[in-house]
Amino acid sequence: MKRILVRETVNHIGKKVLLKGWIHVARRMGKMIFVDLRDISGIVQVVFLSDNQELLKLAKTLRPEFVVEIIGQVNQRPEKLINSKMPTGTVEIQAQELKVLAESKTPPFEIAEEKEAGEALRYKYRYLDLRRESNRKMIIMRSKFIKFIRDFLHKEGFIEVETPILGKSTPEGARDYLVPSRVYPGKFYALPQSPQQYKQLLMVAGLEKYFQIAPCFRDEDSRSDRAPDQFYQLDLELSFITQEEILNLTERLFTDVVKTLFPEKKITYSPWPRLTYQEAMDKYKTDKPDLRKNKNDQNELAFCFIIDWPLFEPELEDGHLAPAHHMFTAPKDSDVPLLEYEPKKARSWQHDLALNGYEVGGGSIRITDPKIQEKVFELVGISKDDIQSKFGHLLEAFQYGVPPHGGIAPGIDRMLMILLNAANVREVTAFPKTGDNRDLLMNSPSEVSEQQLKDLHLKLSSKK
Ligand code: ASP
Repeated sequence: MKRILVRETVNHIGKKVLLKGWIHVARRMGKMIFVDLRDISGIVQVVFLSDNQELLKLAKTLRPEFVVEIIGQVNQRPEKLINSKMPTGTVEIQAQELKVLAESKTPPFEIAEEKEAGEALRYKYRYLDLRRESNRKMIIMRSKFIKFIRDFLHKEGFIEVETPILGKSTPEGARDYLVPSRVYPGKFYALPQSPQQYKQLLMVAGLEKYFQIAPCFRDEDSRSDRAPDQFYQLDLELSFITQEEILNLTERLFTDVVKTLFPEKKITYSPWPRLTYQEAMDKYKTDKPDLRKNKNDQNELAFCFIIDWPLFEPELEDGHLAPAHHMFTAPKDSDVPLLEYEPKKARSWQHDLALNGYEVGGGSIRITDPKIQEKVFELVGISKDDIQSKFGHLLEAFQYGVPPHGGIAPGIDRMLMILLNAANVREVTAFPKTGDNRDLLMNSPSEVSEQQLKDLHLKLSSKK
């Protein structure tokens, strides 16, 4: 007999079916036993009647989270017993056979009743936490969200490319995660803060329209809207493109996603407003304004783009400048001369995407003139030698016919946090770390053996 999902039982009234899943709740009612059986598709009620004593005896041993196989008859419920809150509330399964496939200890928190259980406990037992319907739904929505984006971009002629995880540091303004090389003592790979340089090199390679659901690693402290270690960006890059075309594509993509997957949400402004950085600062005193009309409405989405950024942040103490976005962002053509005498006044081709007061993406038209790129490196304080050793490959590539290009990278986790009304970005990932950067489930970070350190040519200066 072929197994069906509990959600499908409503289409099998009067028939015998085979179901497999977890015991959600088990309760005795007089001489009968009622069980809610849960699988990936939902929950259905199963009843064990007293006319089969042997079966009833086995059913009495059932506890929450046991894994079982049940064969039974799908019966229509009488009108007054219909549970309109359950998608399978019109039926009930009358059990005929039961097999326990796996027993379960009592879970450290209840699955069926989604009572607050504390982040540390939930994340240590994340595989149980994900059995809770609201959490499971978030992971399923994440999968649909990513599939929608993939399908949309493939239809638009984009090419999906995976860039290296063990790479070379591409600065995005955070600390790098470093991986020591065993084969080359004293040398390190860096985990990408973003695939920025690789995607620009793909444009030099002539791929023209690239995207990736890209893991990015930044060694920063955690905040509710930022994962401490690893997060995913929808990384895009296009050749022969204008800024307005990038913004339009982003707007079309996410408008479609919202309409299709989150029909309960309302997008406040269409087209999405484009505010200059100066307008945003003057009017809202922030570069990520919350333009919702009703800030208490969980279903309101107010997207806006911020454009015309200054190329540099205000001067650092050592007299150097820091890029407002990153070092590959192009200055506005008319402002290029300012790089020589008043770089702080130069405006750039940066664009940020803000949603309900969060920055959910950033990008720019890139520098493609090696001389301008060198000038920007110099202004941010990178020595001539360092320019060669850190970015020589990019400057060299730009000498072999580089198309004008630009892109954007909306944050998958942050976007989902808002769309799913999640408490923080951690909740929309399958295996999150706690707010203080620990993986309590696998217990990382963890110590490694002396031999592993030796292989990697590392010595710890002190142990805590
Ligand atoms: N690499 C940039 C970032 O992570 C995005 C971009 O410029 O496309 O913010």
